Amino acid sequence: MSLTLTVLGTASPHPAPGRSCSGHLLRTESATGWLGAGTGTFAELQRHTDPARLSAIWISHLHADHTADLLAAFYAFAYGGLTPPAPIPVYAPQGCAERPAAFLGRPDPGFLGGVLDFRPLSDGHTAHHGDLVLTSRALTHDVEAYGLRAESGGRVLAYSGDSGPCPALAELARGADLFLCEADIDAHREGEQVHLTPEDAGAAAPAAGAGELLVTHVGPTLAPESATARAAAAFGGPTRTAREGAVHRL
Ligand SMILES: [Zn+2]
Repeated sequence: MSLTLTVLGTASPHPAPGRSCSGHLLRTESATGWLGAGTGTFAELQRHTDPARLSAIWISHLHADHTADLLAAFYAFAYGGLTPPAPIPVYAPQGCAERPAAFLGRPDPGFLGGVLDFRPLSDGHTAHHGDLVLTSRALTHDVEAYGLRAESGGRVLAYSGDSGPCPALAELARGADLFLCEADIDAHREGEQVHLTPEDAGAAAPAAGAGELLVTHVGPTLAPESATARAAAAFGGPTRTAREGAVHRL
């Protein structure tokens, strides 16, 4: 049994050369998941797997830096010959299908259903694909947003998506072997709890008893290296920066 995370993109809020927005590939013996369809990640996904064979797509929230490449995926699946054998389940907040459909000028998203099977998330939602279990937890953001707990063969990956500080974050990551956590902002604006500082990410990891912290989604006011150093100081445990193309075996 194995659980492997491949980092496809880490940028926030826009892609840069060699750096896509948020996206990850999760692999087990019998399942393959694309976590986050951030701008640029559909191209990166194809370096590592056949997108038509994905078991599932999981979307944390509907901001463009986490969803824009659903449009690229739809074009590939519907018109590009990368046709999946059955519509691929897309676990996402309510209203996700309407986004690519509206971009294509179609208010009714039903036409997407030939290749993408949208299924709305809720707090505690669980999905099973082969030996992979995906559990979603509602977190704090400025739109409906979820974190993910992915489990296979006793190994656990926790992923924050985009979140402000909240008790559910530590619950999500409880005992996780790897905690993939955003550190988007240098400091909180007064009264705003939309993202995490590096210290927030570092504090959530020991609160959860996580084994290792992987820092991602570092925003433009921070550098990934210094954000990781700050998170490591708050965590006091093994901490790394998420890098495009890196493969983490849990
Ligand atoms: Zn984001």
